[in-house]
Amino acid sequence: MKFDVIIIGAGAAGLFCAFEAGKRGRKVLVIEHNAQVGRKILISGGGRCNFTNIHTKPENFISENPHFSKSALARYTPQDFVELVKKHRIEYYEKKLGQLFCRESARQIVEMLLAECVRARVQIRTTCTVKEVKKIETSEKAFYEIETDQGEFACESLVIATGGLSFPKIGATDFGFRTARKFGLKIVETQPALVPLVFEKSAKSYAKLAGVSVDALVSAGKNSFRENILFTHRGLSGPAVLQISNYWRKEKEITIDLLPTADAHEILKENEASKQNLDNFLSRFLPNRFAEIFTAEILQNKPVNQIGGKERLQIAENLNHWRVKFDETEGFHKAEVTRGGVSTSELSSQTMESKKHVGLFFIGEVVDVTGWLGGYNFQWAWASAYAASQAV
Ligand SMILES: Cc1cc2nc3c(=O)[nH]c(=O)nc-3n(C[C@H](O)[C@H](O)[C@H](O)COP(=O)(O)OP(=O)(O)OC[C@H]3O[C@@H](n4cnc5c(N)ncnc54)[C@H](O)[C@@H]3O)c2cc1C
Repeated sequence: MKFDVIIIGAGAAGLFCAFEAGKRGRKVLVIEHNAQVGRKILISGGGRCNFTNIHTKPENFISENPHFSKSALARYTPQDFVELVKKHRIEYYEKKLGQLFCRESARQIVEMLLAECVRARVQIRTTCTVKEVKKIETSEKAFYEIETDQGEFACESLVIATGGLSFPKIGATDFGFRTARKFGLKIVETQPALVPLVFEKSAKSYAKLAGVSVDALVSAGKNSFRENILFTHRGLSGPAVLQISNYWRKEKEITIDLLPTADAHEILKENEASKQNLDNFLSRFLPNRFAEIFTAEILQNKPVNQIGGKERLQIAENLNHWRVKFDETEGFHKAEVTRGGVSTSELSSQTMESKKHVGLFFIGEVVDVTGWLGGYNFQWAWASAYAASQAV
């Protein structure tokens, strides 16, 4: 069975690429090993799919080559995707910081992609397992043969859209990375990203704070994010920590400003005559439970007027520059995305085609382009898919 284009993986990037290529008159087959397409879309954004971010810029992505995403992002913009969403009469809203969500359900995005696939005469085979991918080179041109448990298929253009390693329970596999290696393409080391972090052993007493959320400025090197942090039984989560996890390395210290709008030293100094205990005093600025436990564990609880100059500096340092070390992340089963992937040095930034193998394309999360939290990863899926769809 011959096709112009075969796409492996019916997730965000795969389905999008399929109908855009189909609209150009290409005969397209999509192969998905799950029984259902777009499972990650369905659980995304808490079931409402944060499908894009209107402020998307190349700076919102991490990659060995920070310039790689520029071309694709410029050719298919958040506004282009919003037009598609509007065409399908899907109601959406901006939750915060340019993040657009479906008002009703993420299912509407999957239904929209499938409707576009039907219109573009794309064939989709679900519950289909790929056994082998071979490149056949003749004197005229190269093509690809895909052996599956539903038969053999051949195509001129093969698109790998099998995503990253996060959430293995809904079908994530290393197929894309294995295929890239088989064809001699370099892989940038993969790691869980947008993921909660686990405290190093000495900090385990903070488990008492599990469930507490604080507005904070979290920094790793030059990168900072101001949003909530959430204490878990093992470490920290919440949007600011998920964001910083993209930049975290084991040896790297994270600094947290627990009073991002105030200078802790100044407020302690201004109130040096206060007879209030430190935990009560701090609960003017921080959640009660947090002030109580943080004071007991890190600072010392005593009346503010008994805090000396040196001690005040130390307390202020812990409030404005709390240094935290983490042992590990919560791993791929809790990570929203995979950092690393097929090296961008192997691909054309215009088309996502392999520089070594004509007709072999990699799109979406399988590529070493990782977005921040907030709709950026879907925008990369749509944009990289669009770039490939125009070249297959
Ligand atoms: C819980 C959660 C919530 C998220 N929420 C958001 C959000 O709100 N906004 C945002 O921008 N990003 C979000 N993300 C990230 C986003 O879902 C991904 O970045 C995006 O889906 C990547 O698209 P993709 O098409 O590359 O991969 P995927 O959407 O993961 O699709 C890959 C497809 O390939 C299939 N596949 C895998 N291996 C094989 C194989 N061997 N054979 C055949 N098929 C295979 C998979 O079953 C899957 O259908 C979230 C992720 C998670 C885990």
